[in-house]
Amino acid sequence: MSLFDRMVVGMLPLVPRGIVGIVASRYVAGNTVEDAISTARSLAAEGAVATMDILGEEVRDAAVAERFTLQYLQLVDAIAAAGISSTVSVKPTMLGLDITEELCEQNVARLCGHASERSVRVAIDMEDHPTTDFTLGLHMRMRERFGNVGTVLQAYMRRTLSDIEALPEGRECQIRLCKGIYVEPESIAYKGYDEVRANYLKALEALFERGIFVGIATHDEYLVDRAVEIIKRRGLEPDAYEFQMLLGVLPQLRAKILGGGHALRVYIPYGPDWYAYSVRRLRENPKVARHVMRAMIGLR
Ligand SMILES: Cc1cc2nc3c(=O)[nH]c(=O)nc-3n(C[C@H](O)[C@H](O)[C@H](O)COP(=O)(O)OP(=O)(O)OC[C@H]3O[C@@H](n4cnc5c(N)ncnc54)[C@H](O)[C@@H]3O)c2cc1C
Repeated sequence: MSLFDRMVVGMLPLVPRGIVGIVASRYVAGNTVEDAISTARSLAAEGAVATMDILGEEVRDAAVAERFTLQYLQLVDAIAAAGISSTVSVKPTMLGLDITEELCEQNVARLCGHASERSVRVAIDMEDHPTTDFTLGLHMRMRERFGNVGTVLQAYMRRTLSDIEALPEGRECQIRLCKGIYVEPESIAYKGYDEVRANYLKALEALFERGIFVGIATHDEYLVDRAVEIIKRRGLEPDAYEFQMLLGVLPQLRAKILGGGHALRVYIPYGPDWYAYSVRRLRENPKVARHVMRAMIGLR
């Protein structure tokens, strides 16, 4: 990131919420579950399926974790009632991990049980490194109890290849592979752009080698192209993988993936806690943040 971009990103907290809201509306479906369902319907018309995420993380109050758990149960009901093809994605810290591991596990189990009865799959998002061991263990325990659960591995983590070796083999194991979004120490995470890409491709090969279903979650066109080559070389069928992207990011790449005949799942975040998520999206993409600044100071 250039010095100018870093400066722009640093100034984001000064931008009025209304302006962030206008630019961020492409990344967030809206405030309500109905907004998320209607976004999923529009994406379905393009040929994409969905995973829905209620915005909010790092909950430190058990009553808030309970409220989010109930909202997730309602989300599962809404997906089942709408008859759309969507999984749900959930962050362990939202369901209580920062309070106690037991509370988080109880809440995630309620969600997975409820979802399993309605044939909806759950993806447990991966957060920062202090949560990695717990999240991987939780994924295994939930799989054993309910069977409808997947999780996420981050290519920037040095441990990822050995984590793959510990996963069960076969399509029933469903793993989303992403680069990773948290700021982690160099002792445990690759930092170089090319190093992360290289580890992503090694991890992808290792997951396919074990017959695991992979959600290839990236907007990096280089990785998308390499993944397509790997899929062709291995002669993989559509039941072995899908691509995954965030709502609002690089729609032209979304069209290219769908045009190539590949399955694509779009991550649809929604809910009143949209501000923190949107600022994070803008931080990742200084070009968009630059537009926000220009709009604010009247340059367009
Ligand atoms: C479906 C999905 C689920 C995810 N789940 C997790 C998770 O559970 N845990 C986790 O740590 N991370 C998660 N991530 C985030 C991921 O780890 C990366 O931080 C993020 O996707 C950016 O990496 P990239 O592979 O797209 O490559 P990059 O090299 O960062 O981006 C490639 C290109 O896409 C553009 N781009 C990337 N992000 C944005 C954006 N937000 N807005 C506009 N343009 C953008 C860039 O400008 C660049 O041109 C998820 C990502 C996706 C797509």
